[in-house]
Amino acid sequence: MTLFCKQCNGRRVPIFQKTENTSFWLCENCENFTDADDNILRELTELEKNEMKKELEDFKEDNSKFSKEKMVRRKGVN
Ligand SMILES: [Zn+2]
Repeated sequence: MTLFCKQCNGRRVPIFQKTENTSFWLCENCENFTDADDNILRELTELEKNEMKKELEDFKEDNSKFSKEKMVRRKGVN
């Protein structure tokens, strides 16, 4: 099973690889990619780590903007 990591039993996520034109399975705990047959292909690179972190931060920022807007609106109503 590729859905769960062999090493840590954590859940894996499919990450699309532009260069290979297919998805590899990433374990965020072990930070490695495997193919559909559970073979470890490579480790997560610093670049990919930073990109994922950036995406997560953007997501958090969007959420905080949204909740601020909501609060302002609520104040206006009261
Ligand atoms: Zn793992």
